[in-house]
Amino acid sequence: MVVVGAGFSGIGAALRLRREGWRDILVLEKASQLGGTWRENTYPGCACDVPSSLYSYSFTPNPRWSRIFAGQREIHDYLRTTAERYGVDEVLRCGVRVVEARWDQNSGRWLVRTTDGEYRARVLVLATGPWHEPRRLVVPGLGEFPGPVFHTAEWDHSVDLAGRRVAVVGSGASTVQVVPAIQARTAALHVFQRTAQWLLPKPDLPVPPALNWCADRLPGIRHTVRAGQYGLQEGIGYVLRHPRLVGPLEAVARTHLRRTVRDPVLRGALTPDHRLGCKRLLTSSTFYQALVQPHVHLHPTAVSSVRGRHLIGADGTTVEADVVITATGFRVGEPALARSVHGTTGRTLHETWAEDGPQAYLGTSVTGFPNLFLLLGPNLLSGSTSAISVLEAQLAYLAAALRHLRREGHVSMDVRPAVQSAYNAAVQEALRTTVYNAGGCSSYYFHSSGRNTFCWPWSTGRLIRSLNRFDAAAYTCHAPSTPAPVPAPRAVAEDTFPADDEGITA
Ligand SMILES: Cc1cc2nc3c(=O)[nH]c(=O)nc-3n(C[C@H](O)[C@H](O)[C@H](O)COP(=O)(O)OP(=O)(O)OC[C@H]3O[C@@H](n4cnc5c(N)ncnc54)[C@H](O)[C@@H]3O)c2cc1C
Repeated sequence: MVVVGAGFSGIGAALRLRREGWRDILVLEKASQLGGTWRENTYPGCACDVPSSLYSYSFTPNPRWSRIFAGQREIHDYLRTTAERYGVDEVLRCGVRVVEARWDQNSGRWLVRTTDGEYRARVLVLATGPWHEPRRLVVPGLGEFPGPVFHTAEWDHSVDLAGRRVAVVGSGASTVQVVPAIQARTAALHVFQRTAQWLLPKPDLPVPPALNWCADRLPGIRHTVRAGQYGLQEGIGYVLRHPRLVGPLEAVARTHLRRTVRDPVLRGALTPDHRLGCKRLLTSSTFYQALVQPHVHLHPTAVSSVRGRHLIGADGTTVEADVVITATGFRVGEPALARSVHGTTGRTLHETWAEDGPQAYLGTSVTGFPNLFLLLGPNLLSGSTSAISVLEAQLAYLAAALRHLRREGHVSMDVRPAVQSAYNAAVQEALRTTVYNAGGCSSYYFHSSGRNTFCWPWSTGRLIRSLNRFDAAAYTCHAPSTPAPVPAPRAVAEDTFPADDEGITA
């Protein structure tokens, strides 16, 4: 089986399936090392915004988190050590980009074309990440800007910001992390904000070594901490699903703003015009403090063009800068390979989804794409959950699906169209009343068709329960037929389903 991508999802998949006794796994990663998000986002201040004890695999806790919300380097190290410890390194091939995958009906296999040749795999797992492709700032004149221009996800560490005039374009999750981290170094820092965002304080404290010590030795403490954090995130999730309850959280955010920002004009510019949670919820206890520094300037406007060293806002604001940092987020929606994965009819995922946007059954299986499993696929995430909680539930589902195939001796499984449609209709109906849909903003949660293709509308508990119950009746399964002769493939990932055997630990 081929897993594409070696971030939390791809590493997690390899780990889980190896524990289940699957041996013919190959994880293909286009970069030179594993880590995904946490390899690429090296900008100053980069950290998780879900507490690390929850934003980590439940089965391999880290007793050494230095802060409640660990920074990028610590998270990357955690992933690397976890992969090493569980032998994922043995099945990882870095520097191999998957270029295309085609389902071959005759052999019941995926033909996976890569920069390292072709592989054949019974099962294809797409773990290419929802926040992977940087969204570029496209405005006239940016290409001719005479200084460094880079995206937060492609931080240029050779650029010294000391004493420079820096423009940061964007007001999302990376902006609230990067601005406090760099402001003290700059001569002037200009933040271009198209949309004001809700910002809650972030209780980002060092973890007392005594707590780490106890959590390492007393699993009860560890579980209690994790459960407490899960409960807190779920509480926020509950509020976001019931907009009438959002008021108190908005009051907390407003108080946070009022206490830090005294200037009523700046405060007005930072006050959102939509409901909290409508866009991804942001947390920081240092962003507003950074904005009130005398050399930091907020411009509540989009950048509309660049002329020489000048960035020009849609409202006519003109700012001179030496460095431009685009904190414009990611192209969220389809997986990175959607245009290159071809199903039973030859159509790609992108073509299949062109009209209504991405949809899958339980965010995992797509009709017409047998034995394909999407990790962190459509409509699985929300504004408050740890992606790792969702991922682990999906991995349990993937393991159950593969056990079913093996037990029944089937070669492929394809989700029934009616099951996928009914499921997605229910998801869309439930989303209607959530703050994601009814909060009065536009966000990356939405496809151009107007459907919210990103959010899960119910509790994470319900998501875990749904994914823990693998329902074979939702799929059409195929028994082996006489395979048509196929040209000799690269045999590296030539996988068979292991027999129901020893060595499988659930
Ligand atoms: C700055 C930042 C902070 C975040 N903080 C949080 C947080 O606090 N809590 C949370 O829940 N989530 C957070 N996220 C979301 C985060 O992306 C997910 O939690 C998680 O790390 C996704 O893991 P992944 O393995 O699915 O994807 P990724 O980490 O994006 O990994 C995908 C991998 O696939 C590889 N790949 C892509 N295409 C190909 C190809 N064609 N061939 C081979 N390899 C390929 C990539 O190189 C990459 O290594 C954050 C995201 C960002 C950007």
